[in-house]
Amino acid sequence: MNRVRCLVLNSALGPLDYRLPDGMIAPPGTVVECPLGPRTILGIVWEPERLPTNEVPVEKLRPLRGLLPVPPLSAPLRRLVEWTADYYVASLAGVARMALSSGGALRGPASITEYRLTGAPPERMTAQREAAIGALEGEQATIRELAGMAGVSEGVLRGLVAQGVLEPVIVDCDRPYDPPRPDFAVPELEPEQRAAAKRLCEAVRSRDFMPFLLDGVTGSGKTETYFEPVADALRMGRQVLVLLPEIALTENFLHRFEERFGVAPVLWHSSLKSTERRRAWRNVAAGDARVVVGARSALFLPFADLGLIVVDEAHETSFKQEDGVRYNARDVAVMRARFEGVPVILASATPALESLQMAESGIYEKLDLPSRFGGAQLPAIATVDLTQEKPGSGHWLAPRLVAAMEERLARGEQSLLFLNRRGYAPLTLCRNCGYRFQCPNCSAWLVEHRFTRRLACHHCGHETAQPETCPECGEPDCLVACGPGVERIADEVAERLPEARVFVATSDTLNSPGRAGEFIAWVEAGEIDVIVGTQLVTKGFHFPDLTLVGVVDADLGLEGGDLRAGERTYQQISQVAGRAGRGEKPGEVLIQTRHPEAAVIAALAAGDRDAFYEAETEARRHAGAPPFGRWAAIIVSSEDDAEAREAANRIGTFRPHVDDLLILGPAPAPMALLRGRYRYRFLINARRSVQLQAVIRSWLSVINHPAGVRVSVDVDPYSFV
Ligand code: ADP
Ligand code: ZN
Repeated sequence: MNRVRCLVLNSALGPLDYRLPDGMIAPPGTVVECPLGPRTILGIVWEPERLPTNEVPVEKLRPLRGLLPVPPLSAPLRRLVEWTADYYVASLAGVARMALSSGGALRGPASITEYRLTGAPPERMTAQREAAIGALEGEQATIRELAGMAGVSEGVLRGLVAQGVLEPVIVDCDRPYDPPRPDFAVPELEPEQRAAAKRLCEAVRSRDFMPFLLDGVTGSGKTETYFEPVADALRMGRQVLVLLPEIALTENFLHRFEERFGVAPVLWHSSLKSTERRRAWRNVAAGDARVVVGARSALFLPFADLGLIVVDEAHETSFKQEDGVRYNARDVAVMRARFEGVPVILASATPALESLQMAESGIYEKLDLPSRFGGAQLPAIATVDLTQEKPGSGHWLAPRLVAAMEERLARGEQSLLFLNRRGYAPLTLCRNCGYRFQCPNCSAWLVEHRFTRRLACHHCGHETAQPETCPECGEPDCLVACGPGVERIADEVAERLPEARVFVATSDTLNSPGRAGEFIAWVEAGEIDVIVGTQLVTKGFHFPDLTLVGVVDADLGLEGGDLRAGERTYQQISQVAGRAGRGEKPGEVLIQTRHPEAAVIAALAAGDRDAFYEAETEARRHAGAPPFGRWAAIIVSSEDDAEAREAANRIGTFRPHVDDLLILGPAPAPMALLRGRYRYRFLINARRSVQLQAVIRSWLSVINHPAGVRVSVDVDPYSFV
């Protein structure tokens, strides 16, 4: 049979059959070039019986154009692509594209020319040349990259090449990485850590699928513990994937990894340069990238011999991808481990209810680290009732919190204030006419950023300069900021503790690994007294002199009535509380709230995690919410409101009637306008017994829409906007 079935990388097309030219060998997984009309499209040879058939007679088939010089995608990865497409109601092509996520890597071995300084001076020194040479000290990269680093044109650098100031170096694009050394610096584990590590190492050696929930309080040393099975996998010559929820956390992780294993791991995330991407991809496929640390997309890398997967901070909602294929990396990680036949470790101090439930029902094995490393105590937590202890008008910090910060300042210790709101104020309005600044593309207010003097939308990135007068009534000096963001809290700290050195830590200020690294160094050197930060500073950081955490507004996350609001608030506040008192000095946490009696807040204050999870479990069971029932959302959107509404209504008329399945909507989504698109939503709630995906797929497959309409399905949604 010289007929092959290919998954082609075009979501609009189903699988296509081709003829295998004489002498060409293409087992399943082979990446091939397929003719399509006058064009060529990438495809992956697949097991024909696993894809829908097409009836083209063999003599009509076109021959494949060629094979790409990469190893075939493995069977476990192919099964993962199928599972992900099926579970998340996505196209196979859309998922397969994630597995071939480096175009360059598919083109075979290559080398590039990079340049570096020779030490020779230029014939004539100009200010620009001097600046460029200063900036490029110790760097080696392509001319274009060097020009970017030095802030000069490529022409200037070519001039320096001609004069021998810069010299070319031919670099193999796919040169291997230094392998991590499993025995480089083996730590002395504490008894609890040792017991957990032993169990995990056994699992790695057994080469079998086995999901673990590593449930350890903040500061218990989960990282040190799971580094042991990582070392074992390395000793066996196998590869390891570690998923982190946020690039901002990698700097800290890389550092610790290097201390333990002697070299840095291989990084994978969306902002890699294309050369780094292809190098990583090809080394992963060759089995030479031994430990990969990455964001969600690393799950679809073509590992040659995977031995272990770790998902750190596994409860984090940023593991949920919110565009394209809407998958949850935590769940896909478990599936990849299952197809690969290897253990997977979900590590967290505040596991998702779904994960705890899996442990309770015996599907995941739970390993506990109940105490902090080195005898450090968990912090004392208290609430500050803002209805009783008022901060005063125009202020947000209650006297007790301010006093606690003053104490820390006097003792040379550090404080962290947490407020999950970037910018200065979430809303700006005109005192004269009531005009509110709204995003033209989204149902959202513009957020004032005082550092940059701009108003910005946090959903679409729309920005405008802060005007002097009201655009509606023309009055000068009448615009008022409503409510606080972190910048405003920092102003208040500066006003109340004038001698304190304050740093605002958000994605605006820590927007690169370099800046995150600087921030860590400043805090460690004691050059910062008060950190005011968003959720970015709630996890991963370990600052021994940080002894006070203030939660500015614990009620913020509970507004909005999102299904997971309670759980998310609990996790966020426990994580940020976990930053306090990690060294020898005890920590204190003050939670400002208007509802100290709310179940979540009371459980946090009492340090009673079980009480929270029990209450939350009951509420979910009652609502048929996950893990007891399932949710899905369908969002219908268009740039034209009427078109979107009509399409949603049409879908509504075809709604299936299935037992134990409830369909709400269509209704305008809470964010009725997002990035210029009008949005209508269906929410679906089903018992676990319902074949939810099959119902949705057959429902949507019978309806055609105008080209401007987009219909996206979100299974197990996290975002309810
Ligand atoms: P978690 O991730 O559980 O919050 P970490 O892994 O950050 O905790 O550990 C807290 C701190 O304790 C880190 O500075 C870590 O290096 C240190 N630590 C934990 N276990 C050990 C150990 N066995 N030996 C030395 N240091 C350890
Ligand atoms: Zn916007």
